[in-house]
Amino acid sequence: MTKKNPNLTAEQKLVFFEEGTEPPNSSELNYEKREGSYYCANCGVKLFNSNTKYESGSGWPSFYQSLPEVFETKTDYLLGYARTEYHCKNCGGHHGHIFDDGPKPTGKRYCNNGLCLVFKAKN
Ligand SMILES: [Zn+2]
Repeated sequence: MTKKNPNLTAEQKLVFFEEGTEPPNSSELNYEKREGSYYCANCGVKLFNSNTKYESGSGWPSFYQSLPEVFETKTDYLLGYARTEYHCKNCGGHHGHIFDDGPKPTGKRYCNNGLCLVFKAKN
């Protein structure tokens, strides 16, 4: 079931609940290099550690691994071919897509809309 945080912006709602995508290179989190954790901007669940973030060149914050059991996936055909999209398991909010061109050890790229994440630096 999808839970909606009433404090989200219109742009965040579009991505979370209408399967939208923010423009590439629009998120400050692309440039975030500090040690810390990334949380769901809708429900606050922790999703990624900073040590799995990498620069993919895609224009969106990218990670090669999420924390275990935090996402569920489904296949969409919005662009005419199959893509694996992922949703926060806790709130149902859409975060992005998983591609198979990531670095070792997983080979995965979690291409995440920056609007859907909140970064908290360690300390
Ligand atoms: Zn969530």
